[in-house]
Order: sequence, then structure tokens, then C-alpha cells
Amino acid sequence: FDLRNEDLKDLHELGQGNGGSVKKVEHVPTGTIMAKKIVLIDAKPAVRKQILRELQIMHDCKSKYIISFWGAFLADPNICICMEFMDKGSLDGIYKKIGPIDIDVVGMVALAVLEGLTYLYDVHRIIHRDIKPSNILFNSQGQIKLCDFGVSGELIGSIADTFVGTSTYMSPERIQGSQYSVKSDVWSLGISLIELALGRFPFSSSYSDDSDLSDFEGTLSPARPGSMNSLASLGLPPSRKRASKAEKSKADKRKSKGVSLQGGAMTMSILELLQHIVNEPAPRLSGFPEQAELFVDSCLLKDPDERKTPKDLLKDEWIMYARTSPIDLQEWATTF
Ligand code: ADP
Ligand code: MG
Repeated sequence: FDLRNEDLKDLHELGQGNGGSVKKVEHVPTGTIMAKKIVLIDAKPAVRKQILRELQIMHDCKSKYIISFWGAFLADPNICICMEFMDKGSLDGIYKKIGPIDIDVVGMVALAVLEGLTYLYDVHRIIHRDIKPSNILFNSQGQIKLCDFGVSGELIGSIADTFVGTSTYMSPERIQGSQYSVKSDVWSLGISLIELALGRFPFSSSYSDDSDLSDFEGTLSPARPGSMNSLASLGLPPSRKRASKAEKSKADKRKSKGVSLQGGAMTMSILELLQHIVNEPAPRLSGFPEQAELFVDSCLLKDPDERKTPKDLLKDEWIMYARTSPIDLQEWATTF
């Protein structure tokens, strides 16, 4: 059916990210519950239309590991993307609620993410670009699905200067501004898996637990697309084009946490973190089953030439084991 904003009733907010916010809504004519992502885009009408066209690819993304798509429309000055609502939310929310996630469940997450990435790449030549726990969703049927993948080149370009997709889940080669590939998603998966197993962001002992660079807007130069992910572009004078309401409210939250943007200390620590990712050995899991540790090690090989693709990693021993896991995720979902 044709999706119209007037037919959607807001229920409540599900969360806020760099690019906008996500609301749980009801499509009143059909009674369908959906998640509506609202993205504020500073682009000309022609570019907006192009973005909408590109988003239509999502109609063809049909996999049980990928969130399904209801449609997208313009609601000036926003683009709204309506997708399947996942009633257990994202994995970051889950571990923040229940603590570290059982390593065997983490293995099943790894399997689902690899299946999703392989589908996106093999069938649609799509690189996800933003693998992190908040983009891995779970529902009470026990399904694990990916959302927020980079379908629209125009959308990526239009929001590039808001640092969307620039996060501390980024691989060393991406931080350095090199050509990147599906293997960059594998790095981000490795970091995410450690985070789920430990119940905290792996770098957070020495750095802020705010893992999004967008929380440090104004400290990074919004460079031209293509160069924005280069360390060389960091630390230059700020030239942000706009600050959305969502960002202002983030700034307020930050104030209440006592983090100073002007202070410089935080600015250094985020730069240090990116340098750390590039220069220091990758984080590792320790104290877990060996197969899990070896899998994470293989995701976090710093040289992308040595790192495997999602498809190859589906043959990994730990992943094969996860496939035959006796754990019932539908039952697990009833525990929180
Ligand atoms: P981020 O992924 O950086 O947290 P987003 O704006 O993409 O920011 O999403 C905000 C939050 O909304 C996510 O953390 C997630 O918990 C929730 N969310 C996003 N999409 C859905 C969905 N389809 N179903 C349920 N919750 C969702
Ligand atoms: Mg997201």
C-alpha cells in the first residue's frame, strides 16, 4: 500500500541516533505497527527525490536477517523511512538491561550478522557500513535482523557532514581513509561481539563510553565525502552546517554528564582512540571458549587483506557450532 504520513499515528519514541530519531507508529488504516525513522536532510529537492528512489532498493531486500521495509516518503524537511518494528529493540539496549550476553547467544548473533551481510553483498552488492549493537535488532520471535545499511549513496553523501557512520566501530583502514570493503563490516562485527560478551564497549576502560563521534560534533572537521574518514581530517576547525533538535538534546545530555566539549580533554581522547585503533593491537576476548576468541581475533585482523569476508567466516568453526546451537532464542527473549 501507499504510505502517507497522515496515516501514521505516533506511539512513542524508540531512540535517537546521529541522523534523527526512530518512533514506534501505527499505520491506522491497516493497524500495522511500524518503526518510523525520521532523517533530517539538508539537500536539494532533486537530491531528496534521488534518495527516495535509491531507498526503494530496500523493497527488494528480502531475508530473514534483514529488517523488512514498508516504504519511505518525504515529509519536509525530513525523509521518513518506515520499517519492520522489532519489539525487543537493539542489542545495545538488551545488554544495558540484562548485562553481558551469554557467549553462545553472542555466537548466534555473529551467525545472523554474517548471514545478513552475505545476503546484502552477494545479492545487492551492498556494504552495510554501520554495524554496531544498536543496528542489530531482536524480536520476541527470537529473530535477529540488521537495519540501517547503506543502500543510498546519495543519503550517505548528504549526511556525511554530520558524521553519521563515523564511529569507533570503524575499521583501521576506514579511519585511515583507505578504500574499504565488506571486510570493514567484519571488523565492526568483531568490536560489537566483544561489547555484547563483556557488556561494555571494549575501549571504554580508558575512553569515554560515548562511542559515537557524533557526540563530539564541533571537534571534527566535516570534510568532503571521501576524505571525512581520514585521520588527517580530524582536529580541524569545526564547520558544521546545522545542528538538529536531536543533536541539541544530545548536547544537553552531555552537559548533564559533565562532559565538556570546550575542554579539549575529550577532544583529545576521541582522537587518541582513533589513533589507538589504527596503531595498537586490536582488542581481544579473553576467558571465553577458545573458538569464540579465535573467531573474534579473525574479525579483528588489522590488515584487511588478511581478514576474511562475511561469506568465508560463515564456515568458521564457532559459527558452524552456533548453527546447531540448542539455545531457543524465542525462549531467551522471554527472560527480559
Ligand atoms: P542508533 O542506531 O545510532 O542508536 P538510530 O536513530 O538508528 O540510532 O536508532 C535509534 C534507536 O531506535 C536504536 O538504538 C534502536 O534501539 C531503535 N530502533 C531503530 N530501529 C528500530 C526498529 N526497526 N524496531 C525497534 N527499534 C528500533
Ligand atoms: Mg541505527
